[in-house]
Parts: sequence; C-alpha cells; structure tokens
Amino acid sequence: MIDSYGRNITYMRLSVTELCNLRCRYCMPAEGICKKPHELMLTEDEMIQAVEVAAELGVTKLRITGGEPLVKKNIVSICRRAAKVEGIRDLAITTNGVLLPELGKDLKEAGVRRLNISLDTLDEAKYAYITRIGTLEQAMAGIETAIELGFEKVKLNAVLIGGFNDDEIKPLAELTRKYPVDMRFIEMMPMYDSGDFKEASFIPYTRVLEVLPELEKVEQDGGVASLYRLPEAQGNIGLISPINAHFCGTCNRIRLTSDGKLKPCLHSNAEYPIKGLDKAGMTEQFKAAIWNKPQWHGELNSIERSKAGRNMNQIGG
Ligand code: SAM
Ligand code: SF4
Repeated sequence: MIDSYGRNITYMRLSVTELCNLRCRYCMPAEGICKKPHELMLTEDEMIQAVEVAAELGVTKLRITGGEPLVKKNIVSICRRAAKVEGIRDLAITTNGVLLPELGKDLKEAGVRRLNISLDTLDEAKYAYITRIGTLEQAMAGIETAIELGFEKVKLNAVLIGGFNDDEIKPLAELTRKYPVDMRFIEMMPMYDSGDFKEASFIPYTRVLEVLPELEKVEQDGGVASLYRLPEAQGNIGLISPINAHFCGTCNRIRLTSDGKLKPCLHSNAEYPIKGLDKAGMTEQFKAAIWNKPQWHGELNSIERSKAGRNMNQIGG
C-alpha cells in the first residue's frame, strides 16, 4: 500500500517479545523490564493474522525482531507459519545470536532465509560491559552456527559508540574478509530512557569512511545501508545513518510491537492498536497506520531524544 507521501510500504518488522537475555546499554534499562501481563500481548494466531493482513496490503518482506526473538518459546512455530503466508517472499530475523547454536537449524528449516546478528565489539570485556550480562563467546558461537548452517545472508550489526568501539572499526570490518558476512555500522539513536551516552558517544557513519579509506563503493541492494567493500572481502560493509543522513524519504517500513501496536514510524509516538481485532478490524488499522506514516522522524540528537515513548527492545529496532 502507498502512504500519503507516495512511499510503497512493503516491509514489516514484527517484534515478537520485549524480553531479552541481554541488557544492551543503548537499548534497555539495567534492571530489564517489567513483564507485561500475558493477555496484553499478541497471541501467535494474532501475529499470523497480522502478517496475512500486511501481505494482503502489499508487504512482501518480514523481519522478526524483539527484544530477543529467540527467547520467545514458540519462535519456530511463528516463523514456520509466517513463512507460509501468501505474499511473504522474504523472512529474516534480527537476533543477538546467543541462542542460535540451539535454534538455528530449526529456524532455517522453518523458512528463515536471512539473519542479522548484533556484534558491537570483538573484545570480551567490552562485550560484557555493553550487554551487561552477555559473553562474546556465546555471540561468536551464534555467528559461526549461522555461517555453518548456510543461511542465504548473514549480516552483523554494530552500533557505533564514540569512546567504546570507534577504535574497533577496522577489526570489525575485517570480519568481512574472514567470513562470508556483511558488517554494518549503525549510528546510535537517542532512545526514550535507555542509555546515558554523552554527546561524544554519537559518532557519524562518516567516521567509518575516514578509518577505512580503502573502502570501495558497491551497488545498493535496495536496503537502507550504503554499501562498500574492502578489497578481497567476502561480504559488504554497510553504513546505516538514521541520524546524519536519514532515509525517511524512501522508508518502506511499518512496525508491529509484541503488545499489538502498529508503529508507522520508529521515532513517533503514534500507535495503532490491533490486539483483539478480527481480520477486517486489523485491516482498517493497518490502512490508517500506513496512510498516516509521518514524513520524517524529526530532529534527533543527544538533546532531542526519540519521541517513540518506548525503548528499542519494546519496538524492535
Ligand atoms: N535482540 C536482537 C538484536 O540485538 O539484534 C533484536 C532486537 S534489537 C532492538 C535490534 C537492533 O536494534 C540491534 O541491531 C541493536 O543493536 C539495535 N539498537 C538497539 N538500540 C539501538 C540504539 N539506541 N541505536 C541504534 N541501534 C539500536
Ligand atoms: Fe536485547 Fe537486542 Fe536490545 Fe541488546 S539490542 S538488549 S540484545 S533487544
């Protein structure tokens, strides 16, 4: 479906849970979150019905996210059913990778084609610091499992944080020589109440180009990342700039949170509830959310924080 600014919405990000087995500092508070009552959250059937409605309105690409989608008990079943919805041609998951050694094979068999795995650092102590409770070993085991299982595409995501991992741009980029993966650097977004990062922590994507002058521009793949490649690399380097070169003008996304709110824009507090609605009711809400998708996300910086009213784990990134 086309929105009121002429953008064709073909991509839905479905958050299946707000819960997570990590506590990344830029994403959620240290104490975690209060688990919402079960009856407020979308059921598996409601999620699948929402995917059907989205597909009928022109969504072809579905990304499952969270929180951490792999902590959701019925994640394999959700993926299996979503992959079979008519019109969904591409099913992907964004994960921290920790549970991939256990679940990767089943997810692939369920129809998941592509994986994005978060990896902000290659240093054990820094990984433990940024995730508060994770270990680098677990994340690397997840990445290796994803590669061994032969998913169509594996992309690694690092949030750029000044004073934390800006000295690791080169080693992280080198992973594209070692493994058949893309490495993507994402500008940190100032979310609601997560993180207390200072002005200097927000570094622009252009820092990557300064550190890696040997990067060669490659053809875009239709996604939001500007693509580059290191000589002799097996995968691309992607630069994602929601802040300094926002891509709202070509945004083709809609988001659905695990508590059943359609979010036409990541950084707006506009939400369209669909919990408990039948298919016709859901369709009306999808149409309203898409039509009213804001033109852009507004100013974002360390002072002008996101107006999402939620932390990233409650939206899905
Ligand atoms: N738990 C999964 C993971 O970490 O990949 C999926 C959910 S996570 C919210 C989705 C993506 O959002 C991750 O790549 C994460 O790094 C990114 N993210 C979270 N908070 C962010 C922020 N404040 N700015 C930029 N990216 C952020
Ligand atoms: Fe969990 Fe992903 Fe947020 Fe980290 S970024 S706390 S792994 S949801």
